[in-house]
Amino acid sequence: MDAERYDLIVVGMGPVGLMMAATAGQAGCSVALVERHRSLYGLPRAGHIDHEIMRLLQSLDCHEPVLDDCYPTLEYVWVNAEGETLLEFDWGAEGVCGWHSDYMQYQPILEQALLDRITADPKVTMLQGWEAVELEQDEAGVDLIIDRTEMRPGEPMPVTTGERRRLSGEYLVGADGARSFVREVLGIGREDLGFNEQWLDVDARKKRPLDLEFDCGQICDPRRPLTVLPLGKHHRRWEWALLPGETREELERPDAAWKLLAELDVGPDDVEIVRQIVYTFEARIAERWRQGRIFLIGDAAHTMPPFMGQGMCSGMRDAKNLAWKFDLVLRGLAPAELLDSFEPERVPHTRDWTVMSLEAGKVPCTTDPQEARERDERFRAGWRPPLPDVPKLTAGILHREADGSISAATGDLGLQARVRDGERLGLLDDVVGTGWALISVGPDPRGALDERAQEVLATLGMRIVAIAPPGRLPARPDEVEDVDGAYLAHLRERDWEAMVVRPDFYVFGGVVARAELPDLLEELRLQLGLAATGSDELAGRKAPVG
Ligand SMILES: Cc1cc2nc3c(=O)[nH]c(=O)nc-3n(C[C@H](O)[C@H](O)[C@H](O)COP(=O)(O)OP(=O)(O)OC[C@H]3O[C@@H](n4cnc5c(N)ncnc54)[C@H](O)[C@@H]3O)c2cc1C
Repeated sequence: MDAERYDLIVVGMGPVGLMMAATAGQAGCSVALVERHRSLYGLPRAGHIDHEIMRLLQSLDCHEPVLDDCYPTLEYVWVNAEGETLLEFDWGAEGVCGWHSDYMQYQPILEQALLDRITADPKVTMLQGWEAVELEQDEAGVDLIIDRTEMRPGEPMPVTTGERRRLSGEYLVGADGARSFVREVLGIGREDLGFNEQWLDVDARKKRPLDLEFDCGQICDPRRPLTVLPLGKHHRRWEWALLPGETREELERPDAAWKLLAELDVGPDDVEIVRQIVYTFEARIAERWRQGRIFLIGDAAHTMPPFMGQGMCSGMRDAKNLAWKFDLVLRGLAPAELLDSFEPERVPHTRDWTVMSLEAGKVPCTTDPQEARERDERFRAGWRPPLPDVPKLTAGILHREADGSISAATGDLGLQARVRDGERLGLLDDVVGTGWALISVGPDPRGALDERAQEVLATLGMRIVAIAPPGRLPARPDEVEDVDGAYLAHLRERDWEAMVVRPDFYVFGGVVARAELPDLLEELRLQLGLAATGSDELAGRKAPVG
């Protein structure tokens, strides 16, 4: 069987595989995207996305349809059986990525936007209706055998037909979900973080506007914990915890959903149920996310309870993290060792979100009345679940201080705010584009860059974004007006004159004065392993990955 060659093979066309193909295709990699179904799943799972994911969609020009259907929720509220507020999340806050901190959306719209993007991208070959069945790798690459599938009467899943093709790639990414075939073939186990709760999920299309007393949040009533969520403007989700003794079979009968909905005064005249399914919410992390040339991302690498709405978001971050690294490695600009930074960067970040989802999830999952009373008392006394801070990058390709430590603001998400160039007013990425950026205030940073630093900029295609204060018209082509003064405030807060931001929006590092920029860029060159023409006097600053 002749092999069809690609830079990258992606297995799985869920939201994370779609994001992987879209971002890698955008970076210029040739991608084969393999999915055993002939079409997208077409039903929602993830409802919530945050500002970082909206920026990611923006960078692919996929955000408009998602925004059009987003529900204007501004609060995510958790109450007890008496209606007292236990926890409250402000979802209307301004996110650092230039969007609201949080959105409730309808996943099929998001997936369709990504599908449209990759359909129009000649670098991406879509192989829908093909199942990955055999996988091998050696030092030269990865070989994948795929088998054509078809639907047969009475079979819930596509079945293979025996018609086979061989794909070969430099790298392969398993984005094939929680029961990942790729993970199985590699024999990679999963750590179980100890959450195991069954909930009935009912998704419905609204037939008419609904006037709901409780709009978006968790009703932590031990008699029957309930999640109430909007899924974009036209759909709704309700989730009920299964009570001790209840079975999946009972709760998946249509009359069970209507009975529970009737208790909320919602009936068939109000909504059409599009999906009714019992999920087991779990928290599992694969022991390794990479083996040689093969990577695991999304649910194949990690699953978490949905209470913070971060499962898919985390998978999309995995994809973006890999995409820019594949790009540099496949173009021969950086050595393959750059890919070693994927796990140290992504695992702790995802683990933090998993722990947060798990600790928060314990609040509504209480079905014992006494325990719930004690929980409510603790909340009244000011107790809060031990939630870690919203995670940032803490390892990998990040600027180190002379003592090897990472400074407080390094590894944060970089700011996206409104700017104006000669003609356009808009968010930074729309006005100046995406990718590596050197953002600076004060005099032209070019004056501080030596030849080697200029070379790093040229190799990475790093844009210089010189920030002019509000009200001052940009004087040079790379200058933009900081319309709201946000960049000036952001950099002043960090005591930085300039910062370098990675293509996945995370801050590599900042400098107090422009004169330090050559050192910062040299450190970046060393960490990325970019080829250099000059001396390696900063080699001691090369950060160990991890
Ligand atoms: C009730 C619920 C609510 C949630 N809410 C949120 C939320 O609000 N926000 C959030 O971010 N996340 C949320 N999540 C999590 C989110 O839905 C998942 O993390 C996300 O869907 C995972 O996407 P994925 O692409 O990794 O995997 P999947 O969506 O599972 O896609 C995997 C794909 O791989 C294909 N595949 C598998 N094996 C093969 C093979 N051998 N060959 C070819 N194709 C194959 C499958 O057919 C499938 O299409 C929620 C989850 C649930 C269950």
